[in-house]
Amino acid sequence: MMLFREFIELCKRVKSAKGINEKKGLISTYLIRLDRDEWIPYILFLTGHPIPDNLEGGLGIGYKLLKKALSNPVRPLFPRGPPKLLDVYNTLLEIYRIRGRDSQAKRLSLLSSLMGLMSSEERIWLANIILGEMRIGVVEGHILSALAYALKINDDIVRRVYMLRGSLYETVDLLSSGVDPYKISPKLYTPLRPMLGQPASTVLEGYNIIGVNTAAVEYKYDGFRVQIHIGDRGPRLFSRRLTDVTDSFPELKEYIYSFDVKEGIFDGEIIAYERKTGKPLPFQDLMKRFRRLENIDEYARIIPVEVKLFDVIYLDGKLLIDKPYIERRNLLDKVIPNEYISKTLYDISPSDAEKIFREAISKGHEGIMIKRMDSPYILGSRGRYWVKVKDKDTLDLVILGAEWGHGRRRGWLSDYYLGVYDVDRGEYTSIGKTFKGLTDEELQYMTKKLLSIIVKDEGYRVWVKPEIVVEVDFNEIQRSPKYRSGYALRLARIRRIREDKNPSEASTLDDIRKLYRKQFVRKGRL
Ligand code: AMP
Repeated sequence: MMLFREFIELCKRVKSAKGINEKKGLISTYLIRLDRDEWIPYILFLTGHPIPDNLEGGLGIGYKLLKKALSNPVRPLFPRGPPKLLDVYNTLLEIYRIRGRDSQAKRLSLLSSLMGLMSSEERIWLANIILGEMRIGVVEGHILSALAYALKINDDIVRRVYMLRGSLYETVDLLSSGVDPYKISPKLYTPLRPMLGQPASTVLEGYNIIGVNTAAVEYKYDGFRVQIHIGDRGPRLFSRRLTDVTDSFPELKEYIYSFDVKEGIFDGEIIAYERKTGKPLPFQDLMKRFRRLENIDEYARIIPVEVKLFDVIYLDGKLLIDKPYIERRNLLDKVIPNEYISKTLYDISPSDAEKIFREAISKGHEGIMIKRMDSPYILGSRGRYWVKVKDKDTLDLVILGAEWGHGRRRGWLSDYYLGVYDVDRGEYTSIGKTFKGLTDEELQYMTKKLLSIIVKDEGYRVWVKPEIVVEVDFNEIQRSPKYRSGYALRLARIRRIREDKNPSEASTLDDIRKLYRKQFVRKGRL
């Protein structure tokens, strides 16, 4: 049985490992030595999860409670030896199950006793796990590779099962029970990770990325990604972050009821439009529909929305992800009325795509998506099959910290440290700072959100869990020693808060390097 102390030794080795392969190697080597019941805590802790994600409500230990336990560990009267990995996990599950009266005090007591069995180093690592702040550069992909290695099967198969079932538990269970991975179907009402597109700065660059001369071209709507599940419990709508947003859109639910579908999973976009002209409304207006818990019907009247579907993943018992795009689209056309389907043209050359791009922009949309007509639907992947072209390059950055504002902005966390994902190091790294772009209402909202995810409070400034994604406009990317990434953004400004995006989907340091180099296609270099 693995001791928690041994687990930490592994974490330290993983942290200092050079490159992805060494990390994966270490994780697999330890994994195959463990008992099966140790796999889950091992996998969860490495990725900074104290308990499984699907346990509602989370662990219930905040920054303050953790600080108290850290500063006052309670040593046991009769020490039983150092805690094992599994002991730690079981205590955390016990803490999770505490509900009702005096729950905070009871949680503190259990946690302080657990910490009392640990060295100060172990305590700090446990705190990092609880805060989700491991900073050892392990991502899900590493874990899935380690599972493939331990179970002696192909990486792609593990990934497929994980994407279809959404949980590491089930993935381990299903794969070790010998089920044919190609017979595993998704679960209705458990959202799947959507397929994503790569950014391209021009239409031509887009065609080069997907490597074909003709492709399908769709409008890229400026809305909110939605996955619609239809089954015996009626329609449910899920966001890109896999949360259920059905109740925010009562009117959509109603007309989805009228689709001639018994069971299905559809992919699309929700957009808001102006009732008088039919023109799309800015994303900010659409977001007002999301944060709302009251007056839903009134807001539905002021900010009408519609859905534009562009793919089908599952239909009446059949999983369609291995079918080519064009077949899926034919099926979509058969079962969904045309007005609810994205504007799409097939067999389009780059020069015609250029025209469609300009038309989309002139109609108030974000740009176009160029899709290979033979592409499978790869869950959760940003592959080379779909490309997005917008009128301007933007970055999706993660907020790493914030400073309190002055004057009119007193009382609000209003100056934000922005980060990109550094794949090699497996962590977010800073690239700039901005106080521009948010409305007062958004500043207020952001302050509340940031305060709930603090990991370090320095008085005038706080550091937070990398959870909030913002889409950022910028004028130029410069080399700069000021930020850890080695780059800085000139005139950065938040275009919008991307609540629909996961931090794992943020721009990477590699994206920045590419964009930096691209600037010199037009500019001179000293
Ligand atoms: P971005 O948010 O810039 O990363 O672009 C990807 C997003 O564009 C997707 O997650 C969808 O929400 C959105 N989108 C809008 N129209 C389409 C479309 N026709 N096909 C795929 N994605 C679309």
